[in-house]
Amino acid sequence: MSEATTTTSTPSTMRPGGRPAGPRNDRGPGSGPRKKRPFQRRKICRFCAEKETTIDYKDPRTLRYFITERGKIVPRRISGNCSKHQREITEAIKRARNLALLPLAAGHILP
Ligand SMILES: [Zn+2]
Repeated sequence: MSEATTTTSTPSTMRPGGRPAGPRNDRGPGSGPRKKRPFQRRKICRFCAEKETTIDYKDPRTLRYFITERGKIVPRRISGNCSKHQREITEAIKRARNLALLPLAAGHILP
């Protein structure tokens, strides 16, 4: 059996009924390049990291770090607290507000 194996090069890339090549323009003009946030280091809870730092409602200096200048509590994804300490911070801030150690709203901040 001596048969020359002639591999017929069939163009497999050509398919009948394929869509015509060319720039597809089915994307709307509104889809611009998405802004990609640069990689951010994962924040760690400062109360977990530093065991000696305690959450105290009588200590507005520590709590002030976790409220915005409008008097709102900074969310966990910004502050980087863990859920346990965020709950304690929230509780402490609310207590401190009652004692007028922290402002309730932006208008309450004294100059
Ligand atoms: Zn924590």
